[in-house]
Amino acid sequence: MSDKQANFYQSVEQNFDKAAVLTSHPKGLLDQIKSCNAIYQMNFPVRIGKDFQVIEAYRVQHSHHRLPTKGGIRFSHLVNQEEVMALASLMTYKCALVDVPFGGAKGGVKISARKYTEEELEKITRRYTVELVRKNFIGPGVDVPAPDYGTGPREMAWILDTYQQLKNGEIDSAACVTGKPVNQNGIRGRTEATGRGVFYGLREMLSNEKDCKAWGMEPGIAGKTMVIQGLGNVGSYTGTISIEEGDAKVIGVSEIEGTIVNPKGIDIAKLLKYKKSKGSIIGFPGTKKLKNREDWVSIDCDILVPAALESQIHKGNAKSVKARIIAEAANGPITSSAEAILLKKGVVIVPDMYLNAGGVTVSYFEWLKNLSHVRYGRIQKRFDQNAYTNLVKLVEDMTGKTVAAKRRSFLTRGADEVDLVRSGLEETMITSYHQIFDVYKRKKKVTDLRTAAFITAIDKIANDYMSLGIFP
Ligand code: NAD
Repeated sequence: MSDKQANFYQSVEQNFDKAAVLTSHPKGLLDQIKSCNAIYQMNFPVRIGKDFQVIEAYRVQHSHHRLPTKGGIRFSHLVNQEEVMALASLMTYKCALVDVPFGGAKGGVKISARKYTEEELEKITRRYTVELVRKNFIGPGVDVPAPDYGTGPREMAWILDTYQQLKNGEIDSAACVTGKPVNQNGIRGRTEATGRGVFYGLREMLSNEKDCKAWGMEPGIAGKTMVIQGLGNVGSYTGTISIEEGDAKVIGVSEIEGTIVNPKGIDIAKLLKYKKSKGSIIGFPGTKKLKNREDWVSIDCDILVPAALESQIHKGNAKSVKARIIAEAANGPITSSAEAILLKKGVVIVPDMYLNAGGVTVSYFEWLKNLSHVRYGRIQKRFDQNAYTNLVKLVEDMTGKTVAAKRRSFLTRGADEVDLVRSGLEETMITSYHQIFDVYKRKKKVTDLRTAAFITAIDKIANDYMSLGIFP
């Protein structure tokens, strides 16, 4: 097997082992944390055109130490059991790292979504949901799916509807899946959450002058050049938000149809409109197409953002990386052998289990919203607004001056749902970064951020098990 097709699951296990030996937890406990608790492989028939197709699909619950389990559903022709196991494992560590109280899970349906009509995709999604219900692999307190590669709010709405048809009257049923459309019990800010989290994570990492110096770079995200692979959900929001809120410059984009570059910067919002109308990124005004799609890896830039699939940076192309930072927006984009090469070169890898945790963080907020049956901000917004208005009035009375209308409305605004979601996400990404960085700095044998992130997650999960009294 070539390194490019290297076993993603083995790679996650190797990374776990590398960190586990640096902890003081007993072997039995570490083995329990590492192992996949439940694996459900299914094959079901779906009528496509005049024929029936047997669809292969999975749901893996990696850890039951906290319930429900949580993780996205992937639609891809590359789906296999070990890939889903790897992704489910990463979810456990990710949730622990960002203090989301769930065990990890993941689902996969082995189909290329592009090859099916919307109606066919709906049939497949609904049938998959029925299988999950039948085996008790879905439910607000059991296992809660979300979007991943190839799926989005539309699929989540089909899952919700199918679940509710089968579980009529279950009061918390809306919490059986997250990433739903806002008008279907979703939450504002979920669609952009993973990309926004990537931005918050990078911004935090680049905010400390001393750390940046040690990495040989100027502090701040402003002006940093980025190259993004995969302009889907995660890649597009990472790009637009890094440009609009961080003043970063995206100089290269790679998609299925090829890689385009413009050293002066690519307007991602405009590129997305272009892609929608033309069905491709190629030919976008001001950009040049590279001869080989795969050459996105070697573009000279500050930050490389793989946001497509796993194993994209491998032994065969790792040496050509020129970036100082690789921001793992995708899950598992770097193989173990590539990682060794990159670390030797001094490339800073910001690990997936931290950097793309924004999605599950906001999914957690959505789940809480569904359980509480009330929109964030509904109860407090006007109370805060009135209190701030009174304070401004008091200052005006005391000073004899009047605050301009625009400033007044800014100062007196009560928080809406999206404000609270963004605030919670920002807090999560900042706090978690410092937890990881503290381990990275404090533990002598820890020389990379991934190992530091694993140690942080393992310690938290071990604590959970010990407080359950399972491993005294
Ligand atoms: P998506 O389906 O919305 O987008 C993926 C994009 O990558 C697509 O546009 C696809 O055409 C492109 N792509 C695929 N193969 C490519 C290749 N070889 N070269 C260039 N482009 C290629 O998927 P997504 O939800 O954005 O997920 C992307 C990654 O982020 C996955 O690894 C996923 O597990 C991870 N992730 C997603 C979320 C989420 O909330 N959606 C959360 C955490 C992690």
